[in-house]
Amino acid sequence: MSDTGELHLHPLLDHGIKAGAPGFAGGTLACRCERDQVTVRVEGDVAHNHACGCTKCWKPEGAIFSVVAVVPRNKLKVLAHAEKLEVVDPAATIQRHACRGCGVHMFGRIENQAHPFYGLDFIHPELFREHGAAAPEFAAFVSSVIESGVRPDRMPAIRGRLKQLGLEPYDCLSPPLMDAISAHVAKRAGVLAA
Ligand SMILES: [Zn+2]
Ligand SMILES: [Zn+2]
Repeated sequence: MSDTGELHLHPLLDHGIKAGAPGFAGGTLACRCERDQVTVRVEGDVAHNHACGCTKCWKPEGAIFSVVAVVPRNKLKVLAHAEKLEVVDPAATIQRHACRGCGVHMFGRIENQAHPFYGLDFIHPELFREHGAAAPEFAAFVSSVIESGVRPDRMPAIRGRLKQLGLEPYDCLSPPLMDAISAHVAKRAGVLAA
């Protein structure tokens, strides 16, 4: 088997990417506890769905990448067992609310109103009980997988596999998201008209 064939990027990526259903209306995210599941209602489709190689995003067992997307925070509501949620790292920019029972991150929220992504919550679309959320579009923070123990010499195979899947690998975020961050910073600095 080739090196590429042995890569377990993520269960949603390893067998090819399934297209989303146009007009996906949203659904319910459920944690992985056998009972008393934390459930979260999301209204409408996700945006900027992507594979993420950072060390902070929740990943299923054995996966090199997480798959993470955003939804407007006013479209997300905890339905059940909010008492099981705790913030993984209160000092982090993104407050990742994880289930104490199974460890799954149910949503990540930015509380700093000056942050470029304030107003967006980060979720893992694989937790939807329903199928059809918009598919991953790119791969972010790819070099960061080395920080979770991936050997640097595997990176060409990993980037090759991502490209084969149609996920352009970036070592930060995608150009449109990096542009959005810089535009936000420029507007706040007054060098760009708001
Ligand atoms: Zn759980
Ligand atoms: Zn991440």
